[in-house]
Amino acid sequence: MRLYSTLQRKLVELPPPPVEIGIYVCGPTVYQRIHVGNARPYVIFLWLRRWLTGRGYAATLASNITDVNDKIYAAAPGHSSELAEQATRWYIEDTDRLGLGRPDAEPKATETMDDIIRLIAELVASGHAYEAGGDVYFRVASFGDYGQLSGQKPDQMTEQEPNPLKQDARDFALWKATKEGEDTSWDSPWGKGRPGWHIECSAMAAKLLGPAFEIHGGGLDLVFPHHENELAQSRAAGQEFAHIWMHNGLLRLTGEKMSKSLGNVQTLERVLDEWGRETLLLFFMTAHWRSPIDFSPATMEAAREQAWTFRNAFLHPPERQPARGWEALEAALDEDFSTTEALAVMHEWRAAGQLEQLRRALTLFGLETLAESERAPAELEEMARRRQAARATSDFAEADRLRDEIAAAGWEVRDVSDDPGYQLVKKD
Ligand SMILES: [Zn+2]
Repeated sequence: MRLYSTLQRKLVELPPPPVEIGIYVCGPTVYQRIHVGNARPYVIFLWLRRWLTGRGYAATLASNITDVNDKIYAAAPGHSSELAEQATRWYIEDTDRLGLGRPDAEPKATETMDDIIRLIAELVASGHAYEAGGDVYFRVASFGDYGQLSGQKPDQMTEQEPNPLKQDARDFALWKATKEGEDTSWDSPWGKGRPGWHIECSAMAAKLLGPAFEIHGGGLDLVFPHHENELAQSRAAGQEFAHIWMHNGLLRLTGEKMSKSLGNVQTLERVLDEWGRETLLLFFMTAHWRSPIDFSPATMEAAREQAWTFRNAFLHPPERQPARGWEALEAALDEDFSTTEALAVMHEWRAAGQLEQLRRALTLFGLETLAESERAPAELEEMARRRQAARATSDFAEADRLRDEIAAAGWEVRDVSDDPGYQLVKKD
């Protein structure tokens, strides 16, 4: 299996199974309900863990919860820890609704403080970091490979965290002395304070996956400075750290309605309420994980249409015809985990009535519910057929009457392009 890695700038081959594949993915900073865009890495890496496990690997997925961070202090001055706890509950609640299970480990920065402080102390002792006024900074000039992940040249880098006490504008904080109004702090060799964001991830990844692991993931917006700094800190501390760096493309809000309401944030909770988990999961399948993905009413409707089409194949099985075998799905996913190719294979199986393979593939992506729809009672099927006929003769009053009658019986009739042209789905 091959995966594209930002660090090597090419597809990198995984060692053959059965080896352990440790995956670390940067999770959310918890200070509000997560955005639907933050659900994308959550979904992609849970799918990837499932796929690797199915291919015979011992895959372990760790995804952190950043519960100490500037954003949290800013959002709730004086009670940041209460906000972090509340927002952690929201995050678990919202992502549970995706129905994909959870990562193997979900470490919190506040529960990893000893490891974080130990790692900083090691970097200070080896000269890769220095204390300045109660803060501790990473000495970028001490790490020759700095910039290797993001490709940034040292002289083009913008300053991170300005502070006149720093030795070099590029140096970034590993530890920050407690400031007025910050309600949480930890004791350290440098006084009371709290860790910087980047060192939290370096420490949590090593604690759970060891000094060398296979895959580090996260959104493309994390390459610089977050991942560049994680890599520098961990390698400066003598760890090999992650081998493959996977960065998923970002979710873009598009469409007129969506752009107008940019202030109107599309939280995962809201999107699940509006569209349901099946449509959202299918939507994420429609773009390669490395590409940006456009979220709009039109793209979500298209994803919903695809979900209905799969469901329809199980309600009204097409005549069975020859099609490619399971190895077609393996080829799609083993080559840089292409869900778009996988989706094309799945539609081929749907059209060919190869429902067992299709069910197995849907299950992999958490979409087995599409194969489990209850058939409507015969009298409702009959009413749906009469409604089709009424629509065909433009008798819309009769068609609407039949639709309402079906709804009163607890079912929803939907129009689909496949035979028989309608679909009956039991309402929740
Ligand atoms: Zn991180």
